[in-house]
Amino acid sequence: MHEVDMTKCLLLSMTEWRQLHAPHTPRVNRVHLQVGAFTCVEPAQLVTTWLVAVRGSWLEGAELVIEAVPLVGRCVRCNATYSPDPEQAYRSPCCDQSMEEIVSGRELRIRSVDYVLPDAISSAAGSPAPTSQASASPRETAPSHAPFATAPAL
Ligand SMILES: [Zn+2]
Repeated sequence: MHEVDMTKCLLLSMTEWRQLHAPHTPRVNRVHLQVGAFTCVEPAQLVTTWLVAVRGSWLEGAELVIEAVPLVGRCVRCNATYSPDPEQAYRSPCCDQSMEEIVSGRELRIRSVDYVLPDAISSAAGSPAPTSQASASPRETAPSHAPFATAPAL
């Protein structure tokens, strides 16, 4: 269920992002997602859920690329960073302190989107431009790798 909710958040974020390009509909090739190890999201499960959810939508064919972010904690006593181990109750191995500061591992955000922006004629919803035509016409489409600021709400 967690992955289903996550996918809904992703789709909402993508729909907001799409509106930045209105009236054009960007053709999304890849969505790069950062998923922290401490989010309890199973990447493979999320990809499966995503593929089902985007079927038949404007995002059909968009690949979800997941970048796993390891869990890193910071020891509150000596300031060292460490890899928390659930079997050690996430305590720091250096000073045996409980994990109070997480440096990374809670990320759940869209880092970037690879897309092309078809021109106005081919952007009608439901009639995506053929891939070969789009990639063979550098003047009308420019591949983009845009930073993506909006993080899906948890
Ligand atoms: Zn320490």
